Amino acid sequence: MSSTKGAFTAMLSHRCPVCKEASLYENPAVYTFHNLGQMHRTCPVCKTNLVPETGFYFGAAYVSWGLTVALWVSILVALKVFDAMGWIEFGFLTHPVTFLSTGMVATILVFPYLFRLSRSIWAFMFIKKSGS
Ligand SMILES: [Zn+2]
Repeated sequence: MSSTKGAFTAMLSHRCPVCKEASLYENPAVYTFHNLGQMHRTCPVCKTNLVPETGFYFGAAYVSWGLTVALWVSILVALKVFDAMGWIEFGFLTHPVTFLSTGMVATILVFPYLFRLSRSIWAFMFIKKSGS
């Protein structure tokens, strides 16, 4: 249960960094948009404190920024590949609207998932099993 693969899967599915079973969020469904940021204060399964200090998850904004940059770079690479394969006509300087509109639509579509994922990654980096 504490294998690296288990931890990675648990992180991607927004689970508790210690027991990897319970969701970090009160409503585990991402795309219902209901209580998107509402987290458990303590894990319902292992009772780990999931909010160790006030403002703990402000730092997740840095993770979110990194994920968003990675998303935009991926979109740029994908558009260049589609152009190279002849599926679309795309150049970064000649078709900026294609890049910006694709990037904005993709950012809006994945926002709820990335928002939660950034907090999940932050929790996995800084919340360890307490030495009880
Ligand atoms: Zn737990």
